[in-house]
Amino acid sequence: MNDYIYISALNQYAYCPRRCYYLFVENTFLDNEHTVEGTLRHTRAHSEETSMRDGILQLRSVSLYSHTYGLTGKADVVEEKNGRLYPVEHKKGRRGRWTNDELQLCAQALCLEEMQGQAIPKGYLFYISTGRRKEVRFTDTLRQQTIDTISAVRQLIESGQRPPNPYTPRCKGCSLHDICLPKETAQLQTSPLKP
Ligand code: SF4
Repeated sequence: MNDYIYISALNQYAYCPRRCYYLFVENTFLDNEHTVEGTLRHTRAHSEETSMRDGILQLRSVSLYSHTYGLTGKADVVEEKNGRLYPVEHKKGRRGRWTNDELQLCAQALCLEEMQGQAIPKGYLFYISTGRRKEVRFTDTLRQQTIDTISAVRQLIESGQRPPNPYTPRCKGCSLHDICLPKETAQLQTSPLKP
């Protein structure tokens, strides 16, 4: 296995390959209100505390890796209940419309399975603004989607090719909108002045 890729890159790629390119190939990052709020609200999750609640051990900011898939990163929280481990990823805002968070959680489970040698059938997404958890089952389909995304991210990073930037509803909340300029790119491509 060559270079390891960050688990968070899978989330970004599933959201938008172009965004993943900016962050993990060009190392370009701009904050907007969504990213700043997310960072602030993640502070507790990344405090590296260990605590016990209702018989459940909670480990925060847990380092993860998989040699099999060439992955590295962190889980916001890993919980242990009755000897069984599962990841819990904290997300700002409400339940999202996209599947990128599920992919990121599944990648964490793949790492934990390899590190701990136990099957991990499910994890949780915790939505900070509502205080609600969503159970995510690591089905064969989700596992395959995650493995396919790992391959796609690795290919993107190795090729260094910038993906296209079609305007989609996701662009509205994207902190990189002002350097990506998807609408302006589309206008240029249809302009009669196009070189
Ligand atoms: S503005 Fe849109 S196309 Fe560009 S990186 Fe963000 S989500 Fe992707």
